[in-house]
Amino acid sequence: MTATGAFPSARYADAPPGAHLHAHGRGRPCVITRRATFSASHLYRLPELSEEQNQARFGPCSRAPGHGHNYELIVAMGGPLDGDGMVLNLSEVKHAIRREVIEPLDFRFLNEAWPDFDLSLPSGRLPTTEALALAIRDRLRPHLPVMGIRLHEQANLWVDVLVGPSHPPMEAFLSIRTHFAAAHRLARPELSQGENEAIYGKCARPHGHGHNYLLDVTVRGSIDPRTGMVCDLAELQKLVDELVVERFDHTFLNKDVPHFADCVPTAENIALHIADLLAEPIAATGARLHKVRLQESPNNAAEVFAETPRLEMVPAALEALAGV
Ligand SMILES: [Zn+2]
Ligand SMILES: [Zn+2]
Repeated sequence: MTATGAFPSARYADAPPGAHLHAHGRGRPCVITRRATFSASHLYRLPELSEEQNQARFGPCSRAPGHGHNYELIVAMGGPLDGDGMVLNLSEVKHAIRREVIEPLDFRFLNEAWPDFDLSLPSGRLPTTEALALAIRDRLRPHLPVMGIRLHEQANLWVDVLVGPSHPPMEAFLSIRTHFAAAHRLARPELSQGENEAIYGKCARPHGHGHNYLLDVTVRGSIDPRTGMVCDLAELQKLVDELVVERFDHTFLNKDVPHFADCVPTAENIALHIADLLAEPIAATGARLHKVRLQESPNNAAEVFAETPRLEMVPAALEALAGV
């Protein structure tokens, strides 16, 4: 017989056979995510506003009897691993999400689903994506160790709400996705063609090449207690369209966008320039620019955190949500 002291089981002499296998990871923290979907309708119409005012404020979203979305919910939960190697039993997670969120909301009219959205009450607010994310988070928190949730209203619009001392309870992160197509050439004008190719490879070829850029803009703000919005979504979309998409789409960035006449248009530099273009105009809407993510191809993307340029400030829970 070999010396049992070399085996982990020797440290669990009093435990039943095989118990040491379950000790792997026990007590160590981990973040897990769970996805669920539901379909629901809603309508943005405040009773204190006239028909014309509702139409002016909320556009087509104010039209009766409403319209619907296929929502996608992702719940991020954190905690130490138990002896079974899990943060939580996924079956219990699934049932809690189904009971607290999916059953009350799936195939329902959101304005009438929860008192949160009863506009005859002073505390009622419009069932926007932000307000819905907040209501879902607060219904799940008594049952699950929620760190944050992401709610997609559609592929190009989603909201994150987080839990923790640094996140005020009414705060939300609203993201919109858009795209533009542009050409560029990566080369520093003071260097020779050979030197540029040594740095930038094929990207330095003299006549450039192009990408279909995907642009995600995330703003952070406090949810208005009545409109349920962190900012005017139409105004945010208009800013991104006018200040970025209209200026960049179908251009040769080095030649058509003045900033890149003497700044190499790498994905990083483009993302930084977009953040600089958007930060002040977005601040005027009442929200703050939080992040610009520019995906150049499925293989590479650049992210700029506008509020907290220090890399270590990336919120951990948002990172967990970003990966799904
Ligand atoms: Zn809608
Ligand atoms: Zn390129």
